[in-house]
Amino acid sequence: MSVSHDRIAAMDDRLDRLVNLDIGARGVEYLYDAARALQGSSLTGAAADALLGVPQGGKVIVTTGSVSRAWISPAVGENDGPSGAAAIVRALVLARTATCVVLAEESLLAPIGAVMVSAGLSPVSFDAARTASSDASLATVVMQAYPTEDRTAIAAASRMLDDFSPDLLFSTERVGRNDKGIYHNMRGRDYGMGRARVDYLFDKALRRGLPVVAVGDGGNEIGMGKVAKAVRTHIPFGNHCSCGCGGGLGAMTGADVLVTAACSNWGCTAIAAAMAARAGDARLLHTPQAEERLLEAMVQNALVNSTHGIIDPNVDGIARDSHLAVAELCQSIVKAAL
Ligand SMILES: [Zn+2]
Repeated sequence: MSVSHDRIAAMDDRLDRLVNLDIGARGVEYLYDAARALQGSSLTGAAADALLGVPQGGKVIVTTGSVSRAWISPAVGENDGPSGAAAIVRALVLARTATCVVLAEESLLAPIGAVMVSAGLSPVSFDAARTASSDASLATVVMQAYPTEDRTAIAAASRMLDDFSPDLLFSTERVGRNDKGIYHNMRGRDYGMGRARVDYLFDKALRRGLPVVAVGDGGNEIGMGKVAKAVRTHIPFGNHCSCGCGGGLGAMTGADVLVTAACSNWGCTAIAAAMAARAGDARLLHTPQAEERLLEAMVQNALVNSTHGIIDPNVDGIARDSHLAVAELCQSIVKAAL
């Protein structure tokens, strides 16, 4: 079914409002207002338009994954990010037979890859993914490590963009450095150790004029450079961190489209719903059933609820059932278009 542009725009606005309801009381509504003013339209809708603008058989670089307790071990990842990224990769594969290369630290490739599998994606090599894309015979994902040192990460950026020639780059819940080069958590602590410097790749992509879509919830993620002033003004440690670097926790890397959300996974759920509405294709939805499966996969793969520092299916300290409910509500909002 195809519905009018106005009705799609109204759905986009509802999706924006739903996922920016600041359940965690972290100040995301201020970030939303700033991003929305710059975008001039729904953030969710703009992201869906950009993702569906990827050509059939196109290539997308995706990043997510946050080393949650870097000072303890680079193998401890958080459970906000991977399931949202998996929902977006799945939608891109179904809508565009896209080849998606997911970048993260080597230490987190296994758990994030397992979440991709739970979303229905087969992890394969880049060449195998291109074969699968050419005849739409298999939903695939390519998992690849990105360097954790500044110098090698900067060098890898040009090489990777040359090798993959992506049509778009997508980031969700991926921490970026501040203007002093430090990666901060939401308590303003430096937790850059063992962290993949994927933000350098996104900076390079933006300089080359490639489309970049980014999702974030706190202010320290790739994309938030776009609303740096709002992060400094409204987010705890946004102006002064606690690590002594002299900056705040705000990431310096921007985006063409920044989607804010109370929980980054929700932003991805909303984008998938907006894509489904545009395509008139219910397969693109991230359903409550899928969310339940992915939350369980993240527990099984030891990804932590970073707010409480424990492995459970509550993401960003928000109870498990709320995440299923958001998926349900996103589905309800776009139902008339499916
Ligand atoms: Zn600092």
